[in-house]
Amino acid sequence: MWKDADKPDQSQTLLIDIPDVAASNITEQKKKDLLGLPNITEKEIRQMNTFFQPYIFYHKISKNETECFCTACNRSFIVNTTLYHKTPEICLHCRTTATAIAAGFSQKDKTETINFVLFKKHKTKDIVYAICLNAGKRYNGDYRNWYNRLRICGKDFLRQPDLECDVLKIYVFKPGECRVYRRQYSYHDNKIKWIYTIVKKKIPQAFSATMYKPADKIILNKELLFKTHLKYYAKALPLALSDRLVEWLNLCSLYPIAEIAAKSKSTTIQRIVQDRLCYDISYLDIVNWKAKKPKDFLKISLNELKEFEQRSNKAYSLKTLEVFARHKKKGEKLSFDLCQYECNLMNYDYNYKEIMKIIDIKMLWNYKKRQQKNGTWKGERTYLDYLDHAQKCGYDLAQSNILYPRDIQQAHDDAVANWQIVRAEAEKKEAEREALKYGYPERYKKLCKKYAFEYGDLTIVVPKLASEIIDEGRILQHCVGGYASRHIQGKTTILFLRHKNEPEKPYYTIEIDEGERRLIQCHGFKNEWENKKAEEVKAFEKEFAKFIKSPKKYKAERKDEECRKSA
Ligand SMILES: [Zn+2]
Repeated sequence: MWKDADKPDQSQTLLIDIPDVAASNITEQKKKDLLGLPNITEKEIRQMNTFFQPYIFYHKISKNETECFCTACNRSFIVNTTLYHKTPEICLHCRTTATAIAAGFSQKDKTETINFVLFKKHKTKDIVYAICLNAGKRYNGDYRNWYNRLRICGKDFLRQPDLECDVLKIYVFKPGECRVYRRQYSYHDNKIKWIYTIVKKKIPQAFSATMYKPADKIILNKELLFKTHLKYYAKALPLALSDRLVEWLNLCSLYPIAEIAAKSKSTTIQRIVQDRLCYDISYLDIVNWKAKKPKDFLKISLNELKEFEQRSNKAYSLKTLEVFARHKKKGEKLSFDLCQYECNLMNYDYNYKEIMKIIDIKMLWNYKKRQQKNGTWKGERTYLDYLDHAQKCGYDLAQSNILYPRDIQQAHDDAVANWQIVRAEAEKKEAEREALKYGYPERYKKLCKKYAFEYGDLTIVVPKLASEIIDEGRILQHCVGGYASRHIQGKTTILFLRHKNEPEKPYYTIEIDEGERRLIQCHGFKNEWENKKAEEVKAFEKEFAKFIKSPKKYKAERKDEECRKSA
């Protein structure tokens, strides 16, 4: 038999577990905010259920009888007629017109989720809550024995109708205040524990929105707002923002000036409010959100705003106005064309703030004009790249002939070349410092003495500097360059294997373990991927391995051998 909702539970249904709020380790502030949260009622759940696509699942129980189950009211009934798959059918209980679906296979791929914002009011205080939840219905399991998620919160009851509710965020509105909590669960000791964290963004979106539009949602209990401190804000919701009610209430609670600003005839001011609401962009250089009076809201004059709007047909962004306001604050009045030019500079990925400290946008603009006239301008990127390198090389950019060089391409190429030299020298110095720190000069002398070894046409060369190891790796295209520092620090030992007549030219590279007196690796160009290891190297390796194992013994054996040969 289907599990019916014939005897609905009239008591208040708990969806958010208040004891969980009390028990969770949260600050006093959070407790004050969340402990008064009213429960979601049976009635509200039923209301949410009506927004879902209704189905009547059916199956034959005898020759004449078909048992039906309505998902709109969660009740079953028996009919004597034949039902047809995917045709409309009327529920005998709730009179809902629903789509008939043959129970079993076809019912199982039916799922639906809907975002709801549920407004609730504190029992006595003037506090409003906006509970943002994601409700879902699934029929892929045996929905008649629906797994009751709420059991894990320590409650055990049948939910009617079957709705899976996942509370994501809770907005807490008090007069002049709004805090937003995110509700997440953590799994600990086989128990689910709910945690409430304050959302850092001042105006977060109720549900994750796309770039262009907010997530679809259904708002319930909106009418109760008109009995609370939010009534004026709710009434003043601008038409363009009608699908962002929660965010709007949030904005107005924090900054009441927004309500007046949104009514402005100026499209610029409207855009500022919309951007604050939709993307949480503050434009602090243009406006003062904490202003009490409209005349204090803008940081620019009405005439300037008018001029900006007249020029807006040139598609200036609000960023242009921001740049204008920033310069105005410093006492400079710039044309909007120049502000727009500065905005364009921001789009290059150089450190904008640092660069603006050095250059004067007016001078740069004139410089560009002059260069263009002479046909020597190479574009903003070349210029910014020049500045970047000039700064790193320590050029005196306070001198205008250095800040604005006569030939930008030449100056750019010189600065890049100089920077490479400066960097190489800095690296060399750093390597020398490291070598001294680890006492490498002494170790170098010892290594030279210890590994003075030749065999055939080949000889051992001890690296004198870390840079030699890096060069060796680069020329032979293997990974020894990465060993340079470890060699200098004495953590490993790198030796070069070279031809006696070409001791400067990298050939093979050896790593040895001095402690265990063994050869770890010996590699040549690209680790011999393209060629096999040369025979002379193999022979050398064999002898050298014997040598490092016991130099005295090896030398004695070789002496004997030579004696025998000469005898
Ligand atoms: Zn029904």
